[in-house]
Amino acid sequence: MGKCKHITRLLSDALDRSLTTGEWVAIRLHLPTCSGCRNYRKQIRLLRVAAHSVSGIAAPGTVNSDD
Ligand SMILES: [Zn+2]
Repeated sequence: MGKCKHITRLLSDALDRSLTTGEWVAIRLHLPTCSGCRNYRKQIRLLRVAAHSVSGIAAPGTVNSDD
């Protein structure tokens, strides 16, 4: 299951760069099937919100899927 490693890497990369359409598609297809990656995304999203709440800058490439 190298898929999860790839997906979590993309989720992490999304904090630092804009993902390609293909990368987002891979994430969107994978997250509904994998609670582990969904939890990972929630965790890094919380970290990102905390990091950006001061500046008020929204990071690009936010995934709006299951919550
Ligand atoms: Zn996964």
